[in-house]
Amino acid sequence: MQGDPEPLGEFDVIDRYFASGRPGAPGAERRTDVILGIGDDAALLRCLESSDLVAAVDTLVAGRHFPEGSEPRSIGHRSLAVNLSDLAAMGATPAWATLALTLPSAEGRWLEGFSTGFMQLAAVHGVELVGGDTTAGPLTISVQILGQVDRGSALRRSGAQPGDILAVTGTLGDAGAGLALVTGRAIAEDGVAAAQLIERFEYPTPRVQFGSEARRIASAAMDLSDGLAGDLPKFARASGLAAHVDVERLPLSAALRSFTTVAQGREWALAAGDDYELLMAVPAQRFDELAAVAGRLNLTFTAIGELRRGMGVTWALEGLPFAAPARGYEHFR
Ligand code: ADP
Ligand code: MG
Repeated sequence: MQGDPEPLGEFDVIDRYFASGRPGAPGAERRTDVILGIGDDAALLRCLESSDLVAAVDTLVAGRHFPEGSEPRSIGHRSLAVNLSDLAAMGATPAWATLALTLPSAEGRWLEGFSTGFMQLAAVHGVELVGGDTTAGPLTISVQILGQVDRGSALRRSGAQPGDILAVTGTLGDAGAGLALVTGRAIAEDGVAAAQLIERFEYPTPRVQFGSEARRIASAAMDLSDGLAGDLPKFARASGLAAHVDVERLPLSAALRSFTTVAQGREWALAAGDDYELLMAVPAQRFDELAAVAGRLNLTFTAIGELRRGMGVTWALEGLPFAAPARGYEHFR
């Protein structure tokens, strides 16, 4: 603890760490479509007439969504990243965010790290923090993200067709391994690989640009927050279809493969969550086109299976039935 001379009050917290444009604010982003930002009773935002407004909110609770004692900069980054990922899955362009912060105490060092992580990622995506709420209580962070998408063009979970290719961006299971490392459930011999995996948990990269460019090619999309085994059944159900996955095709990173067995890597890919990659259904004849878009963005895009008539999810490993973990993470269970 830094031991501020005087305890910070609610308004000091807002002014010092979140009012954009404060001197030295990392990447404080000012948008011309913000008529009124932080400081009034509500924000006033000007929407494009040609767009649909896209809204999402996600809450991170200490000890549940991140380990108690996580780096504050990581918590700030993740609280925005998980929301950006939801917009990416809709193909939307993020624009504005609000932040409801519940803190046990207003501690300068923690707030500096948190706001840095949040604001740096906001700047990368041109998002302006336009309001929020600051209260005392158990550490809980709620971020609402607002964005826009050309009218009628948003990607949905529904919309997949039988015969569509099922594909994912990036690699899966890294964040699960990273979390296991952070919490001491796994121990690495290779320090470099371990650091990469932890980075993937602490600083996930929402696939915003790819989601936006995939809008007119993919037929359905969702982001992977709870692990493929938990998320894929929801995805298939939304289109009233069955999904099939060839487990040997799941993309595992070099870091993950150097750190553990392929079987354990797959387990994390299927059940661990927190990857924030995009899952998409793509018409077979347009798969190469979308893979080329990914390539241009330096992102891998891997076919892992297909959508079929029927319902439910089937998993195969080298052509034989594979018992996937029953489900991903679910609250209240
Ligand atoms: P009210 O009581 O009218 O809700 P507050 O006094 O709580 O307003 O907040 C003052 C201003 O600061 C508002 O514009 C609000 O949106 C903003 N604000 C409060 N907390 C945060 C925060 N954590 N991040 C960004 N803006 C915040
Ligand atoms: Mg308030």
